[in-house]
Amino acid sequence: MNELNSEAYALAQDAADPLRAFREEFHVPRHDGAEQAYFCGNSLGLQPKSARAHVEEVLDKWAMEAVEGHFTGQAQWMPYHELVRDPLATVVGAQPSEVVAMNSLTANLHLMMVSFYRPTRERPAILMEAGAFPSDRYALESQVRFHGFDPSTDLIELQPDEADGTFSIQALERAIAEHGPRLALVLWPGVQYRSGQAFDLGEITRLGHAAGAVVGFDLAHAVGNLPLQLHNSGADFAVWCHYKYMNAGPGAVAGCFVHERHARTGRPRFAGWWGQEQSTRFRMGPEFVPTPGADGWQLSNPPILGLAPLRGSLELFERAGMDALREKSLKLTAYLETLIRERLSDNLQIATPSDPAQRGCQLSLRVVGGRDRGRALFEYLASRGVLGDWREPDVIRISPVPLYNTHADVLRFARAVEAWQG
Ligand SMILES: *Cc1c(COP(=O)(O)O)cnc(C)c1O
Repeated sequence: MNELNSEAYALAQDAADPLRAFREEFHVPRHDGAEQAYFCGNSLGLQPKSARAHVEEVLDKWAMEAVEGHFTGQAQWMPYHELVRDPLATVVGAQPSEVVAMNSLTANLHLMMVSFYRPTRERPAILMEAGAFPSDRYALESQVRFHGFDPSTDLIELQPDEADGTFSIQALERAIAEHGPRLALVLWPGVQYRSGQAFDLGEITRLGHAAGAVVGFDLAHAVGNLPLQLHNSGADFAVWCHYKYMNAGPGAVAGCFVHERHARTGRPRFAGWWGQEQSTRFRMGPEFVPTPGADGWQLSNPPILGLAPLRGSLELFERAGMDALREKSLKLTAYLETLIRERLSDNLQIATPSDPAQRGCQLSLRVVGGRDRGRALFEYLASRGVLGDWREPDVIRISPVPLYNTHADVLRFARAVEAWQG
């Protein structure tokens, strides 16, 4: 244990890390002249140094080619979203035609629900987790109301059944068995934002489908964090953002998955001209014929400046590979967990499952003693250049991201907590 707590140990781990060079690809914010130990990749990922060149390429093209930039030269804007399609499909384990980068997460959730939440009098209900990210709850509740149903009976919010605030798969199984005949949709997170618990998408999909429900996922905290097999999971749809683990910048253009089986669906959708079949899009005719696959849900020509940084980010994921990232992530988070268990348990309790299969990189840490002590520790850490993020009432989330965090960062966190006179 003394060894794990030594700088020599942390530095040796980092020196042996096959992904160590990737940290150099990012701008790491500085605090008092030194690089921060930045653990907020679950909230806003760091900027890849290549982002600027991709944005400048768009600005230069606009300056020099103006309208012709849509159809001429490198990185044309008309098919620009296609530049991110293949690497994005790789990151989420989908076929290229199943993914599209568009809009924002919550907007995509609404668009997906227009097509995939089709409540009837017999089957009006949605099953979601209690304590969901508020935007998801607002979206789902407003959809239930929009269809003339009553959220107090038709928005079913499952309470965590485990003492630590996490869910067992049996709890989901029971809820789906209980409400099955009334369920139109199961909408579940890939990784729960507050607890950091990761879920088995394939198993949840199987349970939901067996009950006759549509199954969709919010992968905001899963994409770029865990290797995913979205196609094989069988999920009907999924949505996510690109500013968290995907490092594509504040408010980056989001992502959306529609399973291949719905590629040519006759389900209703809200349509826009960018979803129109490419061969006829510019005939500007009155009849909407959707592009098969996820592209058919696009509304508008995309914000090219907003998409540009995602290209730089995806190049890094392509080079590193999700499996290698996960391997490093398991080590980093296990190191963090061990240091907390062995040295910091007077102050911090881990609220994330200890089973590595049930978590990504994030550990949610409940500060012993409650809110005021928690805030004091959080602010002390920030004053030492150790940046986590705060969740009311008493949780600090620490997410060591394998693309840019190090064992030395994790040790710095542990030493700072130890030095705290709280
Ligand atoms: C981050 C996050 C959001 C944010 O929604 P935006 O539409 O991107 O602002 C929504 N839901 C979940 C679960 C999130 O983690």
